[in-house]
Amino acid sequence: MAAAAGNVEFIRARSDKREYRRLLLPNALECLLISDADTDKAAACMEVGVGSFSDPEGLEGLAHFLEHMLFYASEKYPGEQDYTKYISEHGGSSNAFTSSETTNFYFDVNADNFEEALDRFAQFFIKPLMSQDAVLREIKAVDSEHKKNLLSDGWRMHQLQKHLASKDHPYHKFSTGSWETLETKPKERGLDIRLELLKFYENYSANLMHLVVYGKESLDCIQSLVESLFSHVKNTDQISFKCPSQPLSAEHLQLLVKAIPIIEGNYLKISWPVTPNIQFYKEGPCRYLSHLIGHEGEGSIFHIIKELGWAMDLVAGAGSDSNEYSFFSVGMRLTDAGHDHMEDIIGLVFKYLHLLKEDGIHEWIFDELASINETEFHYQDKVHPISYVTATVSSMRVVPTRGMAGWRIIAVKVCAK
Ligand SMILES: [Zn+2]
Repeated sequence: MAAAAGNVEFIRARSDKREYRRLLLPNALECLLISDADTDKAAACMEVGVGSFSDPEGLEGLAHFLEHMLFYASEKYPGEQDYTKYISEHGGSSNAFTSSETTNFYFDVNADNFEEALDRFAQFFIKPLMSQDAVLREIKAVDSEHKKNLLSDGWRMHQLQKHLASKDHPYHKFSTGSWETLETKPKERGLDIRLELLKFYENYSANLMHLVVYGKESLDCIQSLVESLFSHVKNTDQISFKCPSQPLSAEHLQLLVKAIPIIEGNYLKISWPVTPNIQFYKEGPCRYLSHLIGHEGEGSIFHIIKELGWAMDLVAGAGSDSNEYSFFSVGMRLTDAGHDHMEDIIGLVFKYLHLLKEDGIHEWIFDELASINETEFHYQDKVHPISYVTATVSSMRVVPTRGMAGWRIIAVKVCAK
């Protein structure tokens, strides 16, 4: 099968001996092939540009439920859990996650068993079975995940932040799904959840997919394997999801929200919307700010608050929620005294932000960070193939391409310069 390949310029770490090739299949599926002669594990990750933000109104959690269902069985391998059984019997592991705009599936396996494992994996995107008997079982699995999340402060606070956002933005929605959203309520409305699932699966089009494949064979071998297995993924030219602006407007800002955690302790988080860092990935403005706000040396904001006996630690940085919106957060574990002075701490943080603004940008700080990043990038430790493919697939989606001939991928770490 003809495919576009070669003529690709990669920014590659100096310590990296692997070979890379970009492959665009005729069905518009973008692939990155990685050949590593020294590896004993092979791995693959597929990122589908459909996530929980695409859940239909009143069917919260459908994208996550679909993620579960694809694991179950396919027409080619109809045995229950055929895929996961094969992977675990051959020294591997598999998992998946649904985020707001994407769903990611990934696995690793002994390098000698890669072809068979990859064939089972490819069936997720070609002909999954999605049988009726799997439906209730997987709704129960989604529901038990939700019940577990209810006991986690991280999940609770995240949902609270979402809940306080603009109601007409998909960020506001509940994304995990539960027995209520996937079984009780659809039934009340006379909906057949399996049919809704099949309808939703139509969004899975090859033009919205990115695939990273990591094997020990040559690039030519990996290419012919990928071409033979993934060229059958249907391309229905779906339009990729675009967020309707920011999830917070003036009425959602300058709010103080107090919540009682499950695990005892005092935690303060100050967060505000920022332009996503990825839009300025070469300059890295949020990296610059998180370096200064998160600094722990003398004269730093943390040093002052710690000297006052109010906080035990401080983290600062921007999340990578979406290409369209993001939040910068400053989080601190507070002492009991800090809890009593919470508003004073907030005042100090904003005074410091004001100071940073007045002081302006210093080139020497940028240069120092750029050289640290550059060194870390070029001399990074080799990570497990499964971690490498999952990190790299996201870069494929978010780092802008520069046309066929000059297409670049920033492997794992984005350099500041
Ligand atoms: Zn799940």
